Amino acid sequence: MKTLLSIDQGTTSSRAILFRADGAIVGLRQKELKLYTPRNGWVEQNPEDIWNDTLWCVQALLADYPEEAAALASIGIANQRETTIVWDRKNGNAIYNAIVWQDRRTAEFCARLKPHESLVAEKTGLLCDPYFSGTKLSWILDNVAGARAKAETGDLAFGTVDSFLLWRLTGGKVHATDATNASRTLLYNIRENKWDEELLALLNIPASMLPEVCDNTGSFGTSAPSLLGKSYTIGGMAGDQQAALFGQACFEEGMVKSTYGTGCFALMNIGKTFRRSKNRLLTTIGYRTGGETSYAIEGAIFVAGAAIQWLRDGLGLFDNAAESEGIATSVADTGGVYFVPAFTGLGAPYWRPEARGLVCGLSRGSGAAHIVRAALEAQGYQTRDLMEAFVADGGYDPVVIRADGGLVANHFMCRFLADMIGKPVEIPRVTETTALGVAYMAGLSAGLYNGFDDIAAQWSCARRYDPSMEAGHRDALYGGWKDAVGYLLR
Ligand code: ADP
Repeated sequence: MKTLLSIDQGTTSSRAILFRADGAIVGLRQKELKLYTPRNGWVEQNPEDIWNDTLWCVQALLADYPEEAAALASIGIANQRETTIVWDRKNGNAIYNAIVWQDRRTAEFCARLKPHESLVAEKTGLLCDPYFSGTKLSWILDNVAGARAKAETGDLAFGTVDSFLLWRLTGGKVHATDATNASRTLLYNIRENKWDEELLALLNIPASMLPEVCDNTGSFGTSAPSLLGKSYTIGGMAGDQQAALFGQACFEEGMVKSTYGTGCFALMNIGKTFRRSKNRLLTTIGYRTGGETSYAIEGAIFVAGAAIQWLRDGLGLFDNAAESEGIATSVADTGGVYFVPAFTGLGAPYWRPEARGLVCGLSRGSGAAHIVRAALEAQGYQTRDLMEAFVADGGYDPVVIRADGGLVANHFMCRFLADMIGKPVEIPRVTETTALGVAYMAGLSAGLYNGFDDIAAQWSCARRYDPSMEAGHRDALYGGWKDAVGYLLR
């Protein structure tokens, strides 16, 4: 059987995963990636680490499975979105560290852009928030010595991590991105599918820096033979959350996937017509194939699993994230404790970059277990915030949520999530949905599948959680959460 290789370059690690065409995982290689926080609110990574780790993972994986490597039909690339890199076209070297999506250094710039927010949202589906690439790119041009002059003469290239990896993999031959990654830059008009001159002027970005924008499926070029022993086609590319939407086979309007990793990102497929959210959700490109765009509405929450990491590393409450489940279930409830993990501001639907985390409702009887439980329950509350916004937007009320990400290993979290949103939560057989999504994209370009139906038929449910909490109790708990968040919104 033919195989597909996915690169999944994430915020905390770089990975390569080899799949069989039927979606089964053959093998995986992974390397942890270091984050640098040189100042409060600044988050950076070394682009050379991103490249070297990714290359190492791919090389090691191909060496692990020579037979399956010989059957490799195509490579897909998924990436942490919005993270911004600028490099010199002449030597391929980055001129500054990668500025990571979580970075808040451009909050002031975004505040100045607020009068233009309606224009920005009409064109991009996004809001004026430091999260997106555009203001990070402006910052590099304005703060790295000589950068703007070089950019004006066409010597610099901008890319999100997908573009940077593609440039390196093709030996500097291809400077391209895909529609989903472009849709997160603040510079791309997602209704007309083009870089937008008015937005480029607003953010003062020279058009010569920008990559070509391609469909998610198609040939993005071939890898330089010197890197992987021979040349392979790169046939699929997408931002990680859109890749997961694809990997979860959410091809019909109203289908939702929700990923619980470092952050939490829920995307609903809204079909082929652009629609702006009335509730501060984002509209984004879900996928584009054969020149046809499917849109998604997205709720982005910056902190999900990162709260569990903080309990582990910041408070030292346990050694391993999996222990959080036993600790949380050692108490019957949180005893009125709420944990709003707004470490890097509040995302959807509140959008308050300046907000910070909160633990409240403490009493003499509160202990570590209550706080751990409150951190896991926060995932349910945050998701309910998004679901209420989805419905208030006049969109679909999802029938079921397809969930994935590291946190879904936690049964307590999944049960509470189903209870809090009052809908079943389904966990797929293959939970590496991001990598699977770009493997499917690459497989479509390689002709391994006839179409979306073949992919949808491969999705199967491994675990399902049905809501069982009584509605009055659920709403009372949620009311307490709204009070806690309300404190941050004062
Ligand atoms: P990312 O792709 O964003 O790097 P992952 O999807 O790999 O993240 O998920 C990792 C996150 O999941 C970490 O923040 C970790 O703390 C959390 N996590 C993993 N296993 C569990 C568990 N059993 N219970 C709670 N949290 C978990």
